[in-house]
Amino acid sequence: MSSRRVTTAMGEAGFDHGAQYFTVRDSGFREQVLAWRELGLVAEWPAPGPGCWVGTPAMNAPVKHLAQDADVTWGARVDSMSGSAGSWALQGEAVPADTFEAVLLAVPSENAMPLLDDIAPAMASRARQTPASPCWTVMAAFDAGVDFAADVAREDGAIGWAARNSSKPGRTGPEAWVIQAGTAWSVTHLEDSPGEVVPALLAAFAQRVGTILPGVLSATAHRWRYAKSGNSGDVALWDSNLGLGACGDWLAGPRVESAWMSGVRLARLVGYSIAVAR
Ligand SMILES: Cc1cc2nc3c(=O)[nH]c(=O)nc-3n(C[C@H](O)[C@H](O)[C@H](O)COP(=O)(O)OP(=O)(O)OC[C@H]3O[C@@H](n4cnc5c(N)ncnc54)[C@H](O)[C@@H]3O)c2cc1C
Repeated sequence: MSSRRVTTAMGEAGFDHGAQYFTVRDSGFREQVLAWRELGLVAEWPAPGPGCWVGTPAMNAPVKHLAQDADVTWGARVDSMSGSAGSWALQGEAVPADTFEAVLLAVPSENAMPLLDDIAPAMASRARQTPASPCWTVMAAFDAGVDFAADVAREDGAIGWAARNSSKPGRTGPEAWVIQAGTAWSVTHLEDSPGEVVPALLAAFAQRVGTILPGVLSATAHRWRYAKSGNSGDVALWDSNLGLGACGDWLAGPRVESAWMSGVRLARLVGYSIAVAR
């Protein structure tokens, strides 16, 4: 649920360059989403179809809200862990030097694997069996509207999905599109440079929407190595003897709602009672 802002000659352009929208099936998640709506953190976006929601003013709004009451160390990368239940230590870039009662990994399976290999081989093996597929994403701002009747364009050739980000509720700034390559194209071009990917996907996008594109104010590419997760079917993993758990989309399916449900399940396994975050 990432968002980026880019400065252009026509003001700041906003892009949700990861998840595009989310849907709601679970009654607990519905309760949470309606609470977020009351707080102005999410709104419906009808372009992809009925029942589609986005964060407002950007996709990361609910995540920021969830984090505001937690003691979060941002920009820290955990490279390894050592210890045992009741006294875990973390090693890596900018990680706190404290010891921790328990560790809950909420990272993609590929990032969980190296952390778990030596300390919890069974969990590592679940992660190894659940790989994700990549997604090259281009964020493009234009000096005029793209002449296309809809605000989303679905899969065709290299393009997996494209969305007029500036049509989402609460967005300001110039015409902005998020253009995602399909999985096959992303796999084939995984090691291409952004300089190669941007023109290739802009050309495929122009072909997809069948028009000459307006002037490009800004165009950048982001490679998601682990975009569409697998689904191990576990929902969450918790070893009370080790004080070690894992949650995230790879345990429950490649959707925002699944990631939320996985986190809630892990919290309950650890022993927390979960209320709707307001
Ligand atoms: C391009 C793209 C499009 C998508 N589109 C949709 C969509 O339209 N609808 C939908 O429902 N879902 C969509 N998804 C999926 C959805 O975004 C995910 O399922 C969900 O965000 C997963 O949440 P998570 O908390 O499990 O993991 P993430 O959101 O991946 O969070 C994991 C975090 O862990 C951090 N991390 C990783 N390793 C370490 C480490 N060693 N140390 C410290 N931190 C680490 C990462 O930096 C990241 O911030 C999309 C995803 C992508 C990438």
